[in-house]
Amino acid sequence: MSADSKKRVFAFEEGDGKNKHLLGGKGANLCEMTQIGLNVPPGFVLSTEACLEFLASPTKELPPGLWEEVQTQMTALEKKTKKGFGSAEEPLLVSVRSGSAMSMPGMMDTILNLGLNAKTLQGVIKATGDERFAYDAYRRFIQLFGKIALNVDDTFFDKQFEMVKKAAGVKEDVALSASDLKDTAERFLRVVQEQTGRPFPEDPYEQLLIAIKAVFGSWGGKRAVDYRRQFNITPAMANGTAVNICTMVFGNRGDDSGTGVGFTRDPGTGENLLYGEYLVNAQGEDVVAGIRTPKPLVSLKADMPEMAKQLDALRDRLEGHYKEVQDFEFTIERGILYCLQTRNGKMNAVAQVRTSVEMVKEGIITKAQALLRVAPDSLEQMLFPRLDPKAKATPVASGLPASPGAASGIAVFDADRAEMLGKEQGFKVILVREETKPEDIHGFFASEGILTSRGGKTSHAAVVARGMGKCCVAGAEGIHVDVDKRIAIVGDTSFKEGDMITLDGTSGKVYLGEIPTVEPEFTDELVTLLSWADEVARIKVMANSDTPVDAKRALKYGAVGIGLARTERMFNDPARLPIVIDMIVADTKEERQEALDRLLPLQQQDFKSLFEVMAPYPVVIRLLDPPIHEFLPNENTLVREITELQQLAKNAHGLTALGAAMTLMQAPDKVRADVDGLRRQLDPMLVESVIVKKERMLRKVRALFETNPMLGHRGVRLGISFPEIYQMQIRAILEAAAECQAAGVEVHPKIKVPQVCTAQELKIVKKWVDAIHDEIKARTGKPVKFQFGTMIEVVRACMRAETLAEQSEFFSFGTNDLTQAAFSFSREDAENKFLPLYTESEVLQDNPFEVLDEKGVGKLMELAVKWGRSVKPDLLVGICGEHGGHPAAIAFCDKIGLDYVSCSGPRVPVARLAAAHAALHAAK
Ligand code: ADP
Ligand code: MG
Ligand code: MG
Repeated sequence: MSADSKKRVFAFEEGDGKNKHLLGGKGANLCEMTQIGLNVPPGFVLSTEACLEFLASPTKELPPGLWEEVQTQMTALEKKTKKGFGSAEEPLLVSVRSGSAMSMPGMMDTILNLGLNAKTLQGVIKATGDERFAYDAYRRFIQLFGKIALNVDDTFFDKQFEMVKKAAGVKEDVALSASDLKDTAERFLRVVQEQTGRPFPEDPYEQLLIAIKAVFGSWGGKRAVDYRRQFNITPAMANGTAVNICTMVFGNRGDDSGTGVGFTRDPGTGENLLYGEYLVNAQGEDVVAGIRTPKPLVSLKADMPEMAKQLDALRDRLEGHYKEVQDFEFTIERGILYCLQTRNGKMNAVAQVRTSVEMVKEGIITKAQALLRVAPDSLEQMLFPRLDPKAKATPVASGLPASPGAASGIAVFDADRAEMLGKEQGFKVILVREETKPEDIHGFFASEGILTSRGGKTSHAAVVARGMGKCCVAGAEGIHVDVDKRIAIVGDTSFKEGDMITLDGTSGKVYLGEIPTVEPEFTDELVTLLSWADEVARIKVMANSDTPVDAKRALKYGAVGIGLARTERMFNDPARLPIVIDMIVADTKEERQEALDRLLPLQQQDFKSLFEVMAPYPVVIRLLDPPIHEFLPNENTLVREITELQQLAKNAHGLTALGAAMTLMQAPDKVRADVDGLRRQLDPMLVESVIVKKERMLRKVRALFETNPMLGHRGVRLGISFPEIYQMQIRAILEAAAECQAAGVEVHPKIKVPQVCTAQELKIVKKWVDAIHDEIKARTGKPVKFQFGTMIEVVRACMRAETLAEQSEFFSFGTNDLTQAAFSFSREDAENKFLPLYTESEVLQDNPFEVLDEKGVGKLMELAVKWGRSVKPDLLVGICGEHGGHPAAIAFCDKIGLDYVSCSGPRVPVARLAAAHAALHAAK
């Protein structure tokens, strides 16, 4: 090991500005700024490695040799500044500042003015000729050092300070005189003596040693440890804190001095304008503490024109060097500008996108850099309505931000009411439930947003709302929902059905009343950035949509096709459901065919309008997938209805008997007429016939009952048992395509078979497809352009990818089912029962339904792609599950050679950017 690699203390001129892990973010940038010639007060950094050595020492002593290194650096600092540490003539004062590789609260606060004591104080007075300034600095130092390094509670100092102010008859500290401040300093020294049992350390080197140890120690303090655990900050990300020792400069030396913070561009809008605030005649902590209201940086031009010019120059140098928007801190001492800190600026998505595009146009960064500096997920912020930031409102409750966006509407407490008030009467409604269930789905369609008081980000409400692109706040535990009384109680307020409420699904907040929202900002800059993304991306982005309205939205978001159109959604339409039910309860083939004949033109129209909207892009249509009992009423409801009807039938028969008895008894005409009237209204034959129908339905429901419907009679298995259903759908697709083609519309339909596990299944469906196609071709004289392919969502399909590829032109991974199959977890049960425990106790790193399990499920995908393409090199492969919209999964899909991902419409921009990231990372 060379002597140099053991070095633990680095002057700002020496440290490696790229090594944040060793020097901390603040320290590394202080070094870098010094080395590129910016005006940084001289100083040095103690490395994070020194910190770890210190923490490992059982006696909590500095590691051997470290203190000598510090002393050497202090001597050098004295030379550079021509001042003396502890000098009574020209005293050197320093700040002691913490800083790790990642900024985090819990680390020790900065100590300013270290090196002051009774002797050096006189030196400051002599050097500045300003007694008030000197005592002000002194009392600040005693309090800060006392609090931060010696753990003396602030209140003891505050109490004394109040007494001084009271005696002087002033309210603000700026009004205190030099002698008041001297009095304060003396009181503070006594506080320290009383609270620590020792005199305040006078020796500057002793002060320095205590401060360094306190900073190092704060890394192991409870607050910091908790924070790192909470936010999963691993040692690879940040390990130990550095200590920065920096020569003091004074912003509180008069009206030609000041201190401030700046952003090189506006972090709210991204506008290319210096943004920030400053205070004249103040020290750093004053800006943060809010003692006086700071001024916006634009007014610096009037206060100190020369400084404003210098600050502009600093801004250009910072951006030119870091090639990134900077968030920096500065101090001006008597007309000289110093830069005390810089780091990459945190911005919202709008600003991030705008600055990316503008910095490319200004020649500061490349397009690739511009793309990479925007996190794909952050775009979601820009794609949903959000609460008007100008509206001031206080939330009444908060829950999990389960589905982004914002919406207002009247509260309703069950799905039927939501449908009635929302769909039928046209109110904007918010569905409020304890939790939601699949049977609430019609309420979702009718609502602007969903609020639940129970359940997490993967609860039914959250998943469904995200799928529909509606906002959702889930698990707002502070809300007590009383469905019967139609009221929700929140602390000491409440809201009832019909009261207006507002949800912010992006923050998880709930408000009473209507709060204005602003529409999503699909800005010009975003359009530009995404067009750059499309230029570099290899993997294509399609959308999951079932309706023309959805498809139009997906196009607007830049989807280049539909990767998944679910036909069952089309069946659920209230106008068709009765026909679908007729089809299911049919006892004979003929009866079923009769219902299907009625469905055919409707489906055909569905597909035709989808094709027209998406032309010339491809549309992948999945044949019917769910178990058909899902379209039937539930068993318990039927049993209840039949019992009630039977009761009614008895009454009807009773009435008939009563009528006969009346005649026999020769009751008066009027009574007989009344009974007759009643009897005619309640015809027992009619009731009986309804009962027969319901009983037939019940028998069907019972016959279709399955213990494990998701592993049961669904997908292609259903198609093979009831060929007429799939044949109708295939015909609808091909006829619609033929119509479009005849009208000159370019269409690329793709027929996709779900749940396939053996090539034999595909062969059977393909035979139908070919037969129907032949028939259409014979009739119209023209072939239809289409492709035939399969979902890959069961494990056997992956293993048999070669034989399936022989029957398919494309594969489409359904990773939700494939994940269930690979883990043998049922998603609903897993997420409601053990998955939270599994991820919390790190049995699993992530919920595999949210984060694609690359090691297991991904491995299956990789094999299927490889084997499939071994028999068909041009096999088209995509993914259409929820994972298809997640950046990490997209990167994985890109890596294993998929051609496209398909995701919900609003995720499309996120996916386009993620696709570009994947390509750029792969090229590295
Ligand atoms: P934080 O990590 O909280 O930003 P800093 O170490 O940056 O803490 O210190 C906070 C403020 O203290 C700085 O913004 C600056 O105004 C002031 N400060 C720190 N060091 C010095 C110094 N050497 N001279 C003058 N002011 C300083
Ligand atoms: Mg701080
Ligand atoms: Mg700072």
